[in-house]
Amino acid sequence: DRLISSEADLQDISFEQSLRPQNLKQYIGQDKVKANLEVFIKAAKLRQETLDHVLLYGPPGLGKTTLAAIIANEMGVNIRTTAGPAIERPGDLAAILTALEPGDVLFIDEIHRLPRTIEEVLYPAMEDFCLDIVIGKGPSARSVRLDLPPFTLVGATTRAGSLSAPLRDRFGVLSRLEFYNESQLQDIVIRTAEVLSTEIDLLAAAEIARRSRGTPRIANRLLRRVRDFAQVKGNGVIDEEQAAEALELLQVDRLGLDHIDHKLLRGIIEKFRGGPVGVETIAATIGEEAHTIEDVYEPYLLQIGFLQRTPRGRIVTDLVYKHLKIEREMGT
Ligand code: ADP
Repeated sequence: DRLISSEADLQDISFEQSLRPQNLKQYIGQDKVKANLEVFIKAAKLRQETLDHVLLYGPPGLGKTTLAAIIANEMGVNIRTTAGPAIERPGDLAAILTALEPGDVLFIDEIHRLPRTIEEVLYPAMEDFCLDIVIGKGPSARSVRLDLPPFTLVGATTRAGSLSAPLRDRFGVLSRLEFYNESQLQDIVIRTAEVLSTEIDLLAAAEIARRSRGTPRIANRLLRRVRDFAQVKGNGVIDEEQAAEALELLQVDRLGLDHIDHKLLRGIIEKFRGGPVGVETIAATIGEEAHTIEDVYEPYLLQIGFLQRTPRGRIVTDLVYKHLKIEREMGT
């Protein structure tokens, strides 16, 4: 597994559970999203209504699951969690919906992966809090309408574009999570260090933040690995030099890129004269799935201006040549 992957691995799961901020105040960054949610939550509480359905979208590891739990917490209700690929039949969704208590938050992660037949069960549930189920088969089949308790659906997706329009339109609140800046990530590292009872100085936290690809999940994972190094080699407090040394050993460079990013970027330069080249071709060159590149690795490379997306494919920019210390050939 890549250390700088923004997707959760098995080791992350229980670790992350212990780190999750519990309310909007503790949730660092995403100020616009937070400010909006704060108003909507207050208004819903004043009117004693459920909160409108919320769609959270953005790359993995930016805090969508965390925010869903915070929304439930701030509303003072329970959260039920499931994921698009876990719901295979309409009956699976019906079972979840009928078990909700009034006001509950239903969190569906990877909601873009819900099968279309199940999406259709969701429409009346979201709109009118009811469920149309078909009883019996053939000519004697009839449709029965069941009332559901009012609830708030919080959907999370890495690609809002893959959501069908009718589903997207049924969310009242659409919030896009952005990559975090260095100072926000530094705050997250400091907060996590506190939770872990680890001592770290500010510059070391900044060093980890710089290499975390704008992503809290990666920042927390790097901190955990750096802490291992510091514990074995150091004197307790993690300083900047130790952090940088550990991250070099872990092969995470100054911008948070690893050998696979290097391979990807070098590949485009060496095999395709810097692009444009299609994402499928890039995927084949480095032996990754195209959708993993698009959802997980590319967003950060686009964000830091290393890649550009054009109608004819991806292009690497001058910044890459500089970063990898490659001379640009004439005419490329
Ligand atoms: P996603 O659902 O978008 O993949 P998660 O909500 O699982 O991301 O977040 C990954 C980890 O990063 C969690 O352990 C959480 O503690 C931490 N995290 C995410 N966003 C924040 C934030 N804004 N402030 C503090 N920690 C955060």
